[in-house]
Amino acid sequence: ELYNQIQEAKGNIRVFCRCRPLSKEEISAGYKMVVDFEAAKDGDLGILTGVSTRKTFKFDRVYTPNDNQVDVFADASPLVISVLDGYNVCIFAYGQTGTGKTFTMEGTEQNRGVNYRTLEQLFKISKERSETFTYSLSVSVLEVYNEQIRDLLATSPTSKKLEIKQSSEGSHHVPGIVEAKVDNLKEVWNVLQAGSNARSVGSNNVNEHSSRSHCMLCVMVKAKNLMNGECTKSKLWLVDLAGSERLAKTDVQGERLKEAQNINRSLSALGDVIYALATKSSHIPYRNSKLTHLLQDSLGGDSKTLMFVQISPSEQDLSETLSSLNFATRVR
Ligand code: ADP
Ligand code: MG
Repeated sequence: ELYNQIQEAKGNIRVFCRCRPLSKEEISAGYKMVVDFEAAKDGDLGILTGVSTRKTFKFDRVYTPNDNQVDVFADASPLVISVLDGYNVCIFAYGQTGTGKTFTMEGTEQNRGVNYRTLEQLFKISKERSETFTYSLSVSVLEVYNEQIRDLLATSPTSKKLEIKQSSEGSHHVPGIVEAKVDNLKEVWNVLQAGSNARSVGSNNVNEHSSRSHCMLCVMVKAKNLMNGECTKSKLWLVDLAGSERLAKTDVQGERLKEAQNINRSLSALGDVIYALATKSSHIPYRNSKLTHLLQDSLGGDSKTLMFVQISPSEQDLSETLSSLNFATRVR
Protein backbone atom coordinates (compact mmCIF):
# COMPACT_ATOMS: atom_id res chain seq x y z
CA GLU A 1 0.00 0.00 0.00
CA LEU A 2 2.70 2.43 1.06
CA TYR A 3 4.76 1.28 -1.89
CA ASN A 4 1.88 2.08 -4.23
CA GLN A 5 1.53 5.56 -2.78
CA ILE A 6 5.22 6.24 -3.29
CA GLN A 7 4.90 4.79 -6.74
CA GLU A 8 2.05 7.11 -7.65
CA ALA A 9 3.85 10.12 -6.32
CA LYS A 10 7.00 9.34 -8.27
CA GLY A 11 5.70 7.90 -11.50
CA ASN A 12 5.97 4.34 -12.65
CA ILE A 13 9.67 4.00 -13.35
CA ARG A 14 12.06 2.82 -10.67
CA VAL A 15 15.83 2.50 -11.07
CA PHE A 16 17.88 0.26 -8.79
CA CYS A 17 21.66 0.22 -9.09
CA ARG A 18 23.59 -2.95 -8.26
CA CYS A 19 27.36 -3.23 -8.06
CA ARG A 20 29.03 -6.63 -8.21
CA PRO A 21 32.06 -7.47 -6.03
CA LEU A 22 35.60 -7.18 -7.42
CA SER A 23 36.46 -10.50 -9.03
CA LYS A 24 39.43 -12.64 -7.92
CA GLU A 25 41.21 -11.70 -11.13
CA GLU A 26 40.68 -7.99 -10.52
CA ILE A 27 41.91 -8.30 -6.96
CA SER A 28 45.04 -10.20 -7.96
CA ALA A 29 45.71 -7.73 -10.77
CA GLY A 30 45.59 -4.98 -8.14
CA TYR A 31 42.65 -3.07 -9.58
CA LYS A 32 41.09 -0.60 -7.17
CA MET A 33 37.43 0.03 -6.42
CA VAL A 34 36.13 3.33 -7.78
CA VAL A 35 32.69 3.03 -6.21
CA ASP A 36 31.80 4.21 -2.71
CA PHE A 37 28.71 3.20 -0.83
CA GLU A 38 28.84 5.65 2.09
CA ALA A 39 25.30 6.84 1.46
CA ALA A 40 24.02 3.76 -0.33
CA LYS A 41 21.16 3.50 2.18
CA ASP A 42 19.81 6.82 0.87
CA GLY A 43 20.16 5.70 -2.73
CA ASP A 44 23.36 7.67 -3.30
CA LEU A 45 26.26 6.16 -5.17
CA GLY A 46 29.66 7.81 -5.29
CA ILE A 47 32.11 7.29 -8.15
CA LEU A 48 35.75 8.32 -7.86
CA THR A 49 36.34 9.73 -11.30
CA GLY A 50 39.92 10.86 -10.64
CA VAL A 51 42.50 11.33 -7.89
CA SER A 52 40.44 13.96 -6.11
CA THR A 53 37.23 14.07 -8.11
CA ARG A 54 34.01 12.38 -7.21
CA LYS A 55 30.63 12.22 -8.85
CA THR A 56 27.41 11.14 -7.17
CA PHE A 57 24.36 9.49 -8.67
CA LYS A 58 20.96 9.04 -7.10
CA PHE A 59 18.78 5.95 -7.44
CA ASP A 60 15.68 4.48 -5.86
CA ARG A 61 17.95 1.80 -4.36
CA VAL A 62 21.66 1.11 -4.36
CA TYR A 63 22.94 -2.41 -3.73
CA THR A 64 26.48 -2.90 -2.53
CA PRO A 65 28.53 -6.00 -3.41
CA ASN A 66 27.45 -7.39 -0.02
CA ASP A 67 23.75 -7.35 -0.81
CA ASN A 68 22.47 -10.73 -1.88
CA GLN A 69 19.70 -12.08 -4.08
CA VAL A 70 17.21 -12.06 -1.20
CA ASP A 71 17.89 -8.38 -0.45
CA VAL A 72 17.41 -7.50 -4.09
CA PHE A 73 14.23 -9.48 -4.55
CA ALA A 74 12.69 -8.06 -1.38
CA ASP A 75 12.52 -4.66 -3.08
CA ALA A 76 11.32 -5.98 -6.45
CA SER A 77 8.64 -8.17 -4.91
CA PRO A 78 5.80 -5.59 -4.52
CA LEU A 79 6.16 -4.73 -8.17
CA VAL A 80 6.04 -8.35 -9.19
CA ILE A 81 2.91 -8.95 -7.12
CA SER A 82 1.10 -6.11 -8.87
CA VAL A 83 0.88 -8.29 -12.01
CA LEU A 84 -1.66 -10.36 -10.05
CA ASP A 85 -3.69 -7.19 -9.57
CA GLY A 86 -3.88 -6.68 -13.32
CA TYR A 87 -0.90 -4.40 -13.92
CA ASN A 88 1.60 -4.94 -16.71
CA VAL A 89 5.13 -4.95 -15.39
CA CYS A 90 8.58 -4.83 -16.92
CA ILE A 91 11.83 -5.51 -15.10
CA PHE A 92 15.11 -5.36 -16.93
CA ALA A 93 18.83 -5.48 -16.26
CA TYR A 94 21.04 -3.02 -18.11
CA GLY A 95 24.83 -2.77 -18.11
CA GLN A 96 28.22 -3.73 -19.45
CA THR A 97 28.95 -7.44 -20.00
CA GLY A 98 30.31 -9.01 -16.81
CA THR A 99 28.52 -6.72 -14.36
CA GLY A 100 25.92 -9.24 -13.17
CA LYS A 101 22.84 -8.83 -15.37
CA THR A 102 22.41 -12.57 -15.71
CA PHE A 103 23.32 -13.05 -12.05
CA THR A 104 20.53 -10.67 -11.03
CA MET A 105 17.88 -12.01 -13.41
CA GLU A 106 18.68 -15.72 -13.74
CA GLY A 107 21.07 -16.24 -10.89
CA THR A 108 22.53 -19.67 -10.26
CA GLU A 109 21.05 -22.82 -8.82
CA GLN A 110 22.42 -21.93 -5.35
CA ASN A 111 21.70 -18.24 -5.75
CA ARG A 112 18.50 -17.95 -7.70
CA GLY A 113 17.71 -14.63 -9.27
CA VAL A 114 14.69 -12.44 -9.93
CA ASN A 115 13.16 -14.71 -12.61
CA TYR A 116 12.77 -17.78 -10.45
CA ARG A 117 11.91 -15.84 -7.30
CA THR A 118 9.22 -13.97 -9.22
CA LEU A 119 7.45 -17.16 -10.24
CA GLU A 120 7.88 -18.52 -6.73
CA GLN A 121 6.27 -15.39 -5.31
CA LEU A 122 3.42 -15.45 -7.85
CA PHE A 123 2.55 -19.04 -6.96
CA LYS A 124 2.71 -18.24 -3.25
CA ILE A 125 0.40 -15.23 -3.49
CA SER A 126 -2.02 -16.98 -5.84
CA LYS A 127 -2.35 -19.77 -3.31
CA GLU A 128 -3.00 -17.26 -0.52
CA ARG A 129 -5.72 -15.65 -2.62
CA SER A 130 -7.26 -18.90 -3.85
CA GLU A 131 -10.58 -18.27 -2.09
CA THR A 132 -11.18 -15.07 -4.01
CA PHE A 133 -9.21 -15.48 -7.24
CA THR A 134 -8.12 -18.18 -9.63
CA TYR A 135 -4.96 -17.47 -11.54
CA SER A 136 -3.52 -19.19 -14.56
CA LEU A 137 0.13 -18.59 -15.41
CA SER A 138 2.02 -19.25 -18.61
CA VAL A 139 5.47 -18.28 -19.82
CA SER A 140 7.27 -17.58 -23.08
CA VAL A 141 11.01 -17.30 -23.49
CA LEU A 142 12.38 -15.27 -26.38
CA GLU A 143 15.67 -14.03 -27.59
CA VAL A 144 16.17 -10.95 -29.72
CA TYR A 145 19.38 -11.06 -31.72
CA ASN A 146 20.17 -8.71 -34.60
CA GLU A 147 16.57 -7.45 -34.56
CA GLN A 148 15.21 -10.97 -35.01
CA ILE A 149 12.98 -12.76 -32.57
CA ARG A 150 13.74 -16.38 -31.69
CA ASP A 151 11.41 -18.58 -29.64
CA LEU A 152 13.58 -20.40 -27.11
CA LEU A 153 10.78 -22.79 -26.19
CA ALA A 154 10.05 -23.93 -29.74
CA THR A 155 10.67 -27.66 -29.96
CA SER A 156 11.28 -27.67 -33.68
CA PRO A 157 13.00 -24.89 -35.58
CA THR A 158 10.61 -22.90 -37.75
CA SER A 159 11.72 -21.07 -40.84
CA LYS A 160 8.87 -18.61 -40.46
CA LYS A 161 9.97 -15.21 -39.23
CA LEU A 162 8.39 -14.28 -35.91
CA GLU A 163 6.66 -10.91 -36.00
CA ILE A 164 4.91 -8.69 -33.48
CA LYS A 165 1.17 -8.20 -34.01
CA GLN A 166 -1.32 -5.97 -32.31
CA SER A 167 -4.61 -7.57 -31.32
CA SER A 168 -8.00 -5.92 -31.68
CA GLU A 169 -8.03 -4.92 -28.01
CA GLY A 170 -4.65 -3.24 -28.48
CA SER A 171 -2.22 -5.64 -26.83
CA HIS A 172 0.94 -6.86 -28.51
CA HIS A 173 1.88 -10.47 -29.08
CA VAL A 174 3.95 -12.73 -31.28
CA PRO A 175 1.70 -15.20 -33.11
CA GLY A 176 3.06 -18.73 -33.09
CA ILE A 177 5.32 -18.56 -30.05
CA VAL A 178 5.11 -21.19 -27.34
CA GLU A 179 3.21 -20.14 -24.23
CA ALA A 180 3.97 -22.85 -21.70
CA LYS A 181 1.38 -23.21 -18.97
CA VAL A 182 3.03 -23.55 -15.59
CA ASP A 183 1.31 -24.86 -12.48
CA ASN A 184 4.21 -25.23 -10.11
CA LEU A 185 7.83 -24.30 -9.54
CA LYS A 186 9.22 -27.52 -10.91
CA GLU A 187 7.59 -26.79 -14.25
CA VAL A 188 8.97 -23.26 -14.10
CA TRP A 189 12.47 -24.52 -13.49
CA ASN A 190 12.17 -26.93 -16.43
CA VAL A 191 10.96 -24.17 -18.73
CA LEU A 192 13.73 -21.80 -17.65
CA GLN A 193 16.32 -24.53 -18.21
CA ALA A 194 14.90 -25.34 -21.64
CA GLY A 195 15.07 -21.68 -22.59
CA SER A 196 18.58 -21.31 -21.34
CA ASN A 197 19.74 -24.48 -23.17
CA ALA A 198 18.13 -23.35 -26.41
CA ARG A 199 20.03 -20.10 -26.18
CA SER A 200 23.32 -21.83 -26.77
CA VAL A 201 22.15 -23.85 -29.79
CA GLY A 202 23.85 -22.70 -32.96
CA SER A 203 26.43 -20.46 -31.30
CA ASN A 204 30.02 -21.48 -30.81
CA ASN A 205 30.52 -19.24 -27.80
CA VAL A 206 27.54 -19.18 -25.47
CA ASN A 207 28.71 -16.30 -23.29
CA GLU A 208 29.58 -14.11 -26.24
CA HIS A 209 26.29 -14.86 -27.91
CA SER A 210 24.23 -14.13 -24.80
CA SER A 211 26.06 -10.87 -24.22
CA ARG A 212 24.96 -9.74 -27.69
CA SER A 213 21.31 -10.68 -27.50
CA HIS A 214 18.40 -9.75 -25.28
CA CYS A 215 16.91 -12.64 -23.33
CA MET A 216 13.26 -12.06 -22.55
CA LEU A 217 10.97 -14.01 -20.27
CA CYS A 218 7.29 -13.16 -20.41
CA VAL A 219 4.90 -14.28 -17.68
CA MET A 220 1.27 -14.06 -18.71
CA VAL A 221 -1.34 -13.98 -15.98
CA LYS A 222 -5.04 -14.65 -16.35
CA ALA A 223 -6.99 -13.76 -13.24
CA LYS A 224 -10.59 -14.52 -12.43
CA ASN A 225 -12.27 -12.78 -9.54
CA LEU A 226 -14.51 -15.42 -7.96
CA MET A 227 -16.67 -12.78 -6.25
CA ASN A 228 -17.79 -10.89 -9.33
CA GLY A 229 -16.66 -13.17 -12.16
CA GLU A 230 -14.43 -10.47 -13.62
CA CYS A 231 -11.45 -11.67 -15.68
CA THR A 232 -8.23 -9.78 -16.32
CA LYS A 233 -5.10 -10.49 -18.35
CA SER A 234 -1.74 -8.99 -17.58
CA LYS A 235 1.88 -9.67 -18.30
CA LEU A 236 5.25 -9.32 -16.74
CA TRP A 237 8.45 -9.07 -18.77
CA LEU A 238 11.78 -10.03 -17.24
CA VAL A 239 14.62 -8.99 -19.49
CA ASP A 240 18.36 -9.68 -19.46
CA LEU A 241 19.57 -7.07 -21.95
CA ALA A 242 22.54 -7.35 -24.30
CA GLY A 243 25.77 -5.83 -22.96
CA SER A 244 25.80 -2.04 -23.23
CA GLU A 245 29.58 -1.71 -23.77
CA ARG A 246 30.77 0.21 -26.77
CA LEU A 247 32.45 -1.57 -29.61
CA ALA A 248 36.20 -2.10 -29.37
CA LYS A 249 38.07 -0.17 -32.05
CA THR A 250 39.45 -3.42 -33.39
CA ASP A 251 35.96 -4.79 -34.12
CA VAL A 252 34.81 -2.29 -36.67
CA GLN A 253 33.70 -4.61 -39.43
CA GLY A 254 31.59 -7.56 -40.46
CA GLU A 255 29.25 -9.47 -38.18
CA ARG A 256 30.53 -7.72 -35.03
CA LEU A 257 29.75 -4.31 -36.42
CA LYS A 258 26.24 -5.36 -37.38
CA GLU A 259 25.65 -6.88 -33.94
CA ALA A 260 26.95 -3.77 -32.22
CA GLN A 261 24.79 -1.49 -34.35
CA ASN A 262 21.70 -3.54 -33.56
CA ILE A 263 22.49 -3.52 -29.84
CA ASN A 264 23.06 0.24 -29.89
CA ARG A 265 19.88 0.75 -31.79
CA SER A 266 17.74 -1.28 -29.41
CA LEU A 267 19.30 0.06 -26.21
CA SER A 268 19.00 3.64 -27.41
CA ALA A 269 15.43 2.92 -28.45
CA LEU A 270 14.76 1.66 -24.92
CA GLY A 271 16.36 4.77 -23.43
CA ASP A 272 14.32 6.98 -25.77
CA VAL A 273 11.04 5.27 -24.87
CA ILE A 274 11.64 5.54 -21.15
CA TYR A 275 12.81 9.13 -21.48
CA ALA A 276 9.71 9.98 -23.52
CA LEU A 277 7.55 8.38 -20.83
CA ALA A 278 9.36 10.09 -17.97
CA THR A 279 9.02 13.49 -19.64
CA LYS A 280 5.40 12.79 -20.60
CA SER A 281 6.09 13.25 -24.28
CA SER A 282 3.07 12.93 -26.59
CA HIS A 283 4.89 10.51 -28.91
CA ILE A 284 6.46 7.37 -27.49
CA PRO A 285 8.73 5.78 -30.13
CA TYR A 286 8.03 2.09 -29.41
CA ARG A 287 8.43 1.00 -33.02
CA ASN A 288 12.12 1.83 -33.35
CA SER A 289 13.29 -1.61 -32.21
CA LYS A 290 11.98 -5.13 -31.69
CA LEU A 291 12.84 -4.81 -28.01
CA THR A 292 10.67 -1.77 -27.31
CA HIS A 293 7.92 -2.98 -29.62
CA LEU A 294 7.72 -6.28 -27.71
CA LEU A 295 7.69 -4.47 -24.37
CA GLN A 296 5.15 -1.86 -25.48
CA ASP A 297 2.27 -3.09 -23.27
CA SER A 298 4.52 -3.15 -20.22
CA LEU A 299 6.19 0.25 -20.68
CA GLY A 300 4.03 3.28 -20.08
CA GLY A 301 0.32 3.68 -19.42
CA ASP A 302 -0.35 2.40 -15.93
CA SER A 303 2.29 -0.33 -16.23
CA LYS A 304 5.22 -0.47 -13.84
CA THR A 305 8.84 -0.50 -14.84
CA LEU A 306 11.96 -1.40 -12.91
CA MET A 307 15.45 -1.09 -14.30
CA PHE A 308 18.49 -2.61 -12.67
CA VAL A 309 21.57 -0.75 -13.75
CA GLN A 310 24.44 -3.15 -13.17
CA ILE A 311 27.96 -1.87 -12.65
CA SER A 312 31.50 -3.05 -12.03
CA PRO A 313 33.39 -1.59 -9.05
CA SER A 314 36.74 -1.77 -10.82
CA GLU A 315 38.83 1.19 -11.99
CA GLN A 316 39.44 -0.32 -15.40
CA ASP A 317 35.69 -0.27 -16.12
CA LEU A 318 35.23 3.35 -15.06
CA SER A 319 34.23 4.78 -18.41
CA GLU A 320 31.63 2.06 -19.10
CA THR A 321 30.35 2.48 -15.54
CA LEU A 322 29.88 6.21 -16.05
CA SER A 323 28.15 5.60 -19.33
CA SER A 324 25.70 3.13 -17.72
CA LEU A 325 25.03 5.47 -14.81
CA ASN A 326 24.36 8.32 -17.21
CA PHE A 327 21.96 6.16 -19.19
CA ALA A 328 20.13 5.27 -15.99
CA THR A 329 20.05 8.87 -14.77
CA ARG A 330 18.52 10.02 -18.00
CA VAL A 331 15.55 7.71 -17.59
CA ARG A 332 14.92 8.36 -13.93
P1 ADP B 1 26.51 -10.23 -17.27
O1 ADP B 1 25.30 -11.08 -17.46
O2 ADP B 1 26.17 -8.79 -17.00
O3 ADP B 1 27.48 -10.36 -18.40
P2 ADP B 1 27.16 -12.08 -15.19
O4 ADP B 1 25.84 -12.17 -14.50
O5 ADP B 1 27.51 -13.20 -16.08
O6 ADP B 1 27.29 -10.70 -15.97
O7 ADP B 1 28.25 -11.87 -14.05
C1 ADP B 1 29.65 -11.95 -14.28
C2 ADP B 1 30.31 -12.71 -13.14
O8 ADP B 1 30.21 -11.99 -11.92
C3 ADP B 1 29.67 -14.05 -12.89
O9 ADP B 1 30.67 -14.98 -12.54
C4 ADP B 1 28.76 -13.80 -11.71
O10 ADP B 1 28.51 -14.95 -10.96
C5 ADP B 1 29.53 -12.76 -10.92
N1 ADP B 1 28.63 -11.85 -10.19
C6 ADP B 1 27.88 -10.90 -10.74
N2 ADP B 1 27.18 -10.22 -9.81
C7 ADP B 1 27.52 -10.77 -8.62
C8 ADP B 1 27.15 -10.50 -7.25
N3 ADP B 1 26.27 -9.52 -6.94
N4 ADP B 1 27.71 -11.27 -6.31
C9 ADP B 1 28.58 -12.23 -6.62
N5 ADP B 1 28.96 -12.53 -7.87
C10 ADP B 1 28.45 -11.82 -8.87
MG1 MG C 1 24.81 -12.27 -19.10
